[in-house]
Amino acid sequence: MNAPASSTGDTSAARYPRRATRQIHVGKVAVGGDAPITVQSMTVTKTADVEGTLQQIYALAAAGCDIVRCTCNEPEAAEGLAQIVPRSPIPVIADIHHQYKMALAAMEAGVHGLRLNPGNIRKPEHIKAVAAEAKDRGIPIRIGVNGGSLDPALYEKYGGIRPEAMVESALQEIAYFEDVDFHTYKISVKASSVPLMVEAYRQLSEVTDAPLHLGVTEAGPPPAGLVKATAGIATLLMEGIGDTIRYSLTADPVEEARAGRQLLEALGLRERKNVDLIACPSCGRAEIDVIDVANRAMEAFGDRKIPLQVAVMGCVVNGPGEAREADLGIAAGNKRGHLFVKGRNVAVVPESEMVDALVEWAEYIHEHGTDAAIARVDTTLAEREAAKDRAKLLDDKGDDANHATEKIVEIRKTVSGS
Ligand code: SF4
Repeated sequence: MNAPASSTGDTSAARYPRRATRQIHVGKVAVGGDAPITVQSMTVTKTADVEGTLQQIYALAAAGCDIVRCTCNEPEAAEGLAQIVPRSPIPVIADIHHQYKMALAAMEAGVHGLRLNPGNIRKPEHIKAVAAEAKDRGIPIRIGVNGGSLDPALYEKYGGIRPEAMVESALQEIAYFEDVDFHTYKISVKASSVPLMVEAYRQLSEVTDAPLHLGVTEAGPPPAGLVKATAGIATLLMEGIGDTIRYSLTADPVEEARAGRQLLEALGLRERKNVDLIACPSCGRAEIDVIDVANRAMEAFGDRKIPLQVAVMGCVVNGPGEAREADLGIAAGNKRGHLFVKGRNVAVVPESEMVDALVEWAEYIHEHGTDAAIARVDTTLAEREAAKDRAKLLDDKGDDANHATEKIVEIRKTVSGS
């Protein structure tokens, strides 16, 4: 297969110099150092429900999740993990709150990593017992500080949930770990407030070279949750802070994995895996319901591994030009869909077949590249038809389909008071 030319160059390394961290491994997945930034998510099934949890893990992996976390809150969950871990396509981390014995049980089950909440397991002897066992077994631990469950003593000391309090909580846990010579840990200092978590991670990154796991906790349902999580995570990634990320959404965890993956791809921090669908915002020129066609195209591409940028444009007057950087696109005109590859018109299809045609051409380009796709058709025919429909639309709607000129005249009248 020829790698198709992609329209967006990856200059992220130069743009966001990454803070140097030491590298650890969660199963086969490297975290920190020069490893790609990874996407994590968490199952919402009962971990004791082995088949249900595995189904969710497979869906998460297909959506771009690199590492999955499952709660280990009771003995049945640890027993479930013993069956889940060998069948999971990605490394499994056990999430531990309150009961340090569940951490020991999860390690016995064979998990690839642990997450401990220092706010919930506070006895030094318990923390050290877990770290010593993890060291013997070669299992990494995430120190998962959470603003909402901060150690009450630190809450008191700092007069509330402050970035300094969260960093101190992490440093206390590190000290216990180092007492037993355990160093394979990563850290998170999540909060539901974006400014708070951003500041906590900034401060933390100054005092440790451990890999950092980023997240805005309890971000809520999309779209607000997506906005909050993206604001916090993207801000830090663009400052070079962060080695692994999780979107904590009140939604199907597959959405978390997709969002994480898409953010990394959008920032140029991971190679594109699936289609990057772009669409025009639509305007008075639109010949189709752009939102509907874009949504149907999204659905048709699903989780297919086609790493192309595909454009859905509302009109053939401006669409092919506005999206000329896309690998492939379609623009509506005169009840027809005009397909274009790198801005060159290549085919015309009935409006009802626009989405099917997009998928078919995307598959061809993925297999053979954009040059071969252009070469397989006589573009003069498609260009002539596009020119015809463009001329018709200009005839019908003129140069100013959005009636901007009329509005400007009105604005001037309003401003001048005439
Ligand atoms: S001019 Fe055409 S392509 Fe551009 S926003 Fe309007 S409908 Fe979409």
